[in-house]
Amino acid sequence: MYSWVMHEFLVAGGVVESLVKYVSESGRVVKSFRVVVGELSMLDIETLSNAIKTLITQTALRNAVFTVEVEPASIVCGTCLSKMSFNEAMAGLNTDAKEVIHFIPDLVGCYISCVKCGSVDLKVVSGRWVEVRDVVT
Ligand SMILES: [Zn+2]
Repeated sequence: MYSWVMHEFLVAGGVVESLVKYVSESGRVVKSFRVVVGELSMLDIETLSNAIKTLITQTALRNAVFTVEVEPASIVCGTCLSKMSFNEAMAGLNTDAKEVIHFIPDLVGCYISCVKCGSVDLKVVSGRWVEVRDVVT
């Protein structure tokens, strides 16, 4: 489990670093921010939240309040443009396939096809990234 904790700390470090940069460039005081974590990033929300909490104590962000939330992943068909939730699209797959897609979402079209038109031109459009949103100053 150690490597996963390291991973969360790396991500937390990136989040805090970008906010510290924003603070020093803008001269503003950050009151609050939201961290949105894509479902597919497979980060542990509690560990990530604790890591951010620890890291900001040494920065100008120490008084900021923040939330960490999960964003569900969704898939869009490149042929008919219909949108599917990731869980819905993955429902029929076995655990091995699910794991591969979790690690390499771009392979999603190798395992499933569009529920509407059958196309395998599928793209994961949300739930892959970690983003800082709604920074209130
Ligand atoms: Zn389609």
